[in-house]
Amino acid sequence: MSSAPWLESDVPLKALNTFGLPATARRLARIRGDADVRRVLDSPEVGRSAKLVLGGGSNLVLTRDVDEVVLKVEVDGLRLVETRDDAFIVEAGAGMTWHDVVTQTIARGWPGLENLALIPGTVGAAPVQNIGAYGLELADRFDSLDGVDLVTGLGISLDRRQCLFGYRDSVFKHSLANRSVITRVRFRLPRPWQPVAGYLDLERKIHETGIREPSARQIFDWVCAIRRAKLPDPQVIGNAGSFFKNPVVTIEQCRDIIGRDPEIVHYPMPDGSVKLAAGWLIDACGWKGKTMGQAGVYEKQALVLVNRGHAIGSEVMLLARAIQESVYGRFGIRLEPEPLVV
Ligand SMILES: Cc1cc2nc3c(=O)[nH]c(=O)nc-3n(C[C@H](O)[C@H](O)[C@H](O)COP(=O)(O)OP(=O)(O)OC[C@H]3O[C@@H](n4cnc5c(N)ncnc54)[C@H](O)[C@@H]3O)c2cc1C
Repeated sequence: MSSAPWLESDVPLKALNTFGLPATARRLARIRGDADVRRVLDSPEVGRSAKLVLGGGSNLVLTRDVDEVVLKVEVDGLRLVETRDDAFIVEAGAGMTWHDVVTQTIARGWPGLENLALIPGTVGAAPVQNIGAYGLELADRFDSLDGVDLVTGLGISLDRRQCLFGYRDSVFKHSLANRSVITRVRFRLPRPWQPVAGYLDLERKIHETGIREPSARQIFDWVCAIRRAKLPDPQVIGNAGSFFKNPVVTIEQCRDIIGRDPEIVHYPMPDGSVKLAAGWLIDACGWKGKTMGQAGVYEKQALVLVNRGHAIGSEVMLLARAIQESVYGRFGIRLEPEPLVV
């Protein structure tokens, strides 16, 4: 039992991670504002303990009980900060559900996030891995964020440049990893709004429906429909979305693989490198639909590992390692997991 009333003990985490993996947080504090972070840091009981920041638990694989103090971010609130000639600046609390923010900003006349509809999780985690989908990344709509430094207890504010966004990457995975709690994020939503509809699946929708000039709401609906058809709903089948990052290789490596596997799905990048579809590599190794213990590879998308019902984290990691070995054995490419493994 902890003595501080705001510090919960032995909290089950199964319902707090979308993979549905069983684990317990020995101590958990709910963060509804910067002051809650400082209260944890000032506490003689847990101030100096290691911390784990938790949002919606949709990019997380729990392989053990969590000894770190879990900071469950629940900062709320959505507001228009400024209307500029070229953009709306909108601020959201880090604990808000990402999809709710996408929905509400469109409904309130501030479109621009529609391509990122239905990505699970919270606003505060979105900059951590620079979430992206359907031709758009958070970085394209990001203005700035606020948070609290977990070492000094001081407030921090970072702009786009300081976040060092990359493909599923940011400063929060490097020098600021485990170092800060993001409490508010501001978006820059361009005016006038322009559709981002160059992604193949969206072009296909334009072609099928004959709607040449889709509205933000139309793109939102298409993205939701496409995602529902392709990805398992974590409420029904536990998962953490794409389990591996798409590997980026040199043009020479890519040519070498194409020589052996002409079908390989690949995308040239602006810097001359080539991004390979990790799902294709896994599928080519025969993993789609396979099961090991209670962990499996989703039938419709080999990049997604799923909980067949009662999986534990170590089973998921065993399957992940077996997949990494086969892909390395056949293509010489090391797949890197996308979720945080605890
Ligand atoms: C079905 C499904 C589909 C998905 N599709 C996509 C997709 O299309 N594109 C995409 O990019 N991702 C996708 N994801 C991954 C996931 O939704 C995102 O990574 C999301 O941003 C994670 O949010 P979360 O709140 O659940 O983070 P969590 O899983 O709780 O945490 C993830 C990481 O962020 C850190 N973190 C969380 N909140 C904060 C905070 N406030 N301050 C500091 N650090 C924090 C955590 O410590 C951890 O390191 C998908 C996941 C699922 C289950």
